[in-house]
Parts: sequence; structure tokens; C-alpha cells
Amino acid sequence: VKPVYSAEAEAYRAVIKAFLKENLPAGWRGMWALKGDERAEFADTWRAKLYENRLIAPAWPVKYGGGGLSPVERLVLAEEFTKVAAPPSLEVDMGGIGLLGPTLLTRGTEEQKTYFLPRILSGQDRWAQGYSEPEAGSDLASLRTRAELVDGSWVINGQKVWTSLAHRANWIFVLCRTDPSASQHRGISFLLVPLDQPGISIRPLINIVGTHEFNEVFFTDARTEAKMIVGQPNEGWSVANSLLGVERLSGATMYGVYKDELDRIIAMAKERRLSSDPIIRQRLAWSYSKVEILRYLGMKVATRLAADMPAGPESAVIKVLHTEYRKRVLDLAIDIMGLDATTPAGHRPYYPILSDVGAAYSSAGWVDMYLGAQPASIYAGTSEVHRNIIGERVLGLPREPRSGWQRAQLSVGA
Ligand SMILES: Cc1cc2nc3c(=O)[nH]c(=O)nc-3n(C[C@H](O)[C@H](O)[C@H](O)COP(=O)(O)OP(=O)(O)OC[C@H]3O[C@@H](n4cnc5c(N)ncnc54)[C@H](O)[C@@H]3O)c2cc1C
Repeated sequence: VKPVYSAEAEAYRAVIKAFLKENLPAGWRGMWALKGDERAEFADTWRAKLYENRLIAPAWPVKYGGGGLSPVERLVLAEEFTKVAAPPSLEVDMGGIGLLGPTLLTRGTEEQKTYFLPRILSGQDRWAQGYSEPEAGSDLASLRTRAELVDGSWVINGQKVWTSLAHRANWIFVLCRTDPSASQHRGISFLLVPLDQPGISIRPLINIVGTHEFNEVFFTDARTEAKMIVGQPNEGWSVANSLLGVERLSGATMYGVYKDELDRIIAMAKERRLSSDPIIRQRLAWSYSKVEILRYLGMKVATRLAADMPAGPESAVIKVLHTEYRKRVLDLAIDIMGLDATTPAGHRPYYPILSDVGAAYSSAGWVDMYLGAQPASIYAGTSEVHRNIIGERVLGLPREPRSGWQRAQLSVGA
């Protein structure tokens, strides 16, 4: 099947191609080809260029500094960026551009939008996500961090965990229990809290790759102004779920990246004379079919969004498909590499959670990617939890008894 884009989408493709030609350095081969310091330097310059050209948040309305692009134009943009290995904007700021910004656009007050959105776009504010707690992950509604209104401020006490990049953020959006007497998911509020204050301490957690990506965040009489609430007091649960819906959809535009990665795994199988091994061939064919399914699901979602329809429960299918696919295809890469994977050496990826398009990975590169793929089926809701959603919302199977997080996700049309 060869998808046909509208004339407008093709016209937009030409604009994006011209932007990339003009703005990428001559001989550009992707982030992977840069050395350590050069990568950080390029990331800053690239962010500034995307910002100047309103490409840093392509979906946001022009009024707030976004690109005002349609879902199909965004798909075209993702395709063209991938073809030339240009880093997409989400890589530069998932918390602000990827999560909080879209949530403020639909649920924030005008004052919150005009204050925070430009600061996110310019990079002045960096956001962390304060949802999970030690006893509240999948069952998020059992969270215990509390907030009370005292003299015009929310006063917050409790602990969050697995808070990605909190050490590089200056704000955090926090789910807090504001009415302990209400039923689990009714007494929760969604607060915007400055991180740089004496009542907050951030402790690092080191991940499996050995890097510092996430943290524990402790709140001891931390404060934020009364107006720093998104949605009404005690009604933060539906705001929290709007944000999770956005987070799940991030796999919808990944086709180009996954196709490129699979092509490189196929090339590695050929180099190692394993492409005629029947089991390896079968696994490569399985991978190919999954990448194509992901492509068409992404288009389906884009078409629904273009028609002003919600993404629908298929977003749960995309989340499970792309995160589980990634684990299996990188497992295959490791098997193809064989013993070399036990002595990883050489060039490493820029950002192991995603594939660097066109990269010439070493054994260390593939091992990092393999490890980096493991948590994706955990964050933004685990595969098991999403399978429950698919069973009930997509396939119409009988509901299973549940509490908290999942019940409310279903009730807001996950
Ligand atoms: C890399 C990474 C980054 C993260 N970043 C953030 C962040 O920035 N901010 C944040 O707030 N959180 C973050 N998280 C936390 C993430 O949201 C939670 O890990 C996730 O929601 C799962 O919760 P848990 O770890 O407590 O596991 P649990 O909820 O304890 O689950 C344990 C296991 O039980 C299964 N399970 C649980 N309930 C059910 C059920 N009803 N049916 C079937 N199976 C079930 C789960 O699928 C899982 O396999 C991050 C996690 C990772 C791995």
C-alpha cells in the first residue's frame, strides 16, 4: 500500500525539506556521528533553530508560539526529519513540550497558557512529571502525597519516585491528594510546583545503563501559589489522564525511526551470514510486519485527529505494540551479535531510548539500545495495564474488578 497525501500535505513537505536543507550542517549524518561535546552544542543550536521557525511544538496553536500544523502535516514533518536524521523536538524536552504543554492547551486557564507556554518553548522552563510514588505506580490513584491550601498557597508533603530529569527541571507537575475523605480518584488535584525551593529535595536514581535519568523527589512543606492548579480542586484525575493520553501517542510517529533501525539489523544479519538462518529470518519477518502495522496505525490516528476525532483507545494498542516490538527487535539484534554482545565496545548512541537514525552502531551501541528499550513498556502505564484497556475498550471483553488508576482511565475514555 502506498499512502497518498493531500496536495496541501505535499506542499508542506517541500517547505520542510527546504528548512532542513538550509539549516542542517553540510554533510550532516545525524547526532550519532558527533562526539560528546559536539552533541550538546548541536542540541542547543538545533533547539534554537526549531524555536525560531515555530517547529519546536508543531501541534500547538500559532497564538501560543506553536506551529499550528495539522496532524497530517505533523506526520509529514516526522517523516522528513527522520529521512535526514534531524532530531525531533520531543527529544529536546519531553516533560514540557511533550506532556505539560498539550495538557495546558486543553485544560489550563488562559493565564496559565500565556505565562507557561512561551517559557516552555523558549527553554526557560523545564518540567518534570510527579505522578508515581513508592506505593502508587499502576495503581496511581492510591497516591499519598498531600496538599492543603494555607494562606493562599498549596503546602505539599510527600514523595514521588522515578521522576525523569527532575535534576534538570525547574518546575514539576504533581498529583496530590487534596481531599483525603473523598473516594480514591476524586480527591486528587494537579498542581504546578517550582522545584527550586527549600521544601524540595531531589535524590538521584541510577538506571540499568549506569546513567542518571530519574530521581526521587521529596516534598516537605513545599509551596506553590493557589492559582497553580490545573482544573478544579479535587478534579485533577481527569487532567492527569488527558496527559497520559498524550504520552501514549508518542509512538504514533515512530515508523521512520523503527524502519531505519530494522534495516540496520537486517544488514547486520547479512554481514554475519545469519540472514539465511530460518529462525532469524522468521524473527526478521515478524519485526517487519510489526513496523508496517505501526505505520498504518499511526496514519489511522493522524486521520482521526485530522477529522477532530479523539485518538481513541487505539492509542493503547500503539503504546503496547511499539514498546513490546522494540524489546523484541533489540533482543534479536543482540542474538545476531552473539558473543560480541557480552563484551560491548565502541560507539554509543546519543539517547539509548531511541534509535539514532542511520547510526553505525557498535556492540556497545546495540547493547545500550537493548537496555534502553526495556523501560518503555513500563513508563506511561505498563503493557499489562494497557492490555486491560485494549481488552475492555477495544475488544469489548468483560471488565475485571479493579481500583484507582485503571478504573478512572477507562472512565475518561483512555
Ligand atoms: C524509565 C522510567 C521513567 C519513568 N519516569 C517517570 C516520571 O518521570 N514520572 C513519574 O511519575 N513516573 C515515572 N515512571 C514510573 C512509571 O510510571 C511506573 O513505573 C509505572 O506506572 C508502573 O508502576 P510501578 O513501577 O509502581 O509498578 P507496579 O504498578 O508495582 O507494577 C508491577 C507489575 O505489576 C503489573 N500490574 C500492576 N497492576 C496490574 C493489573 N491491574 N493487571 C495486570 N498487571 C498489573 C504491572 O504491569 C507490572 O508488571 C518512570 C518509569 C520508568 C521505568
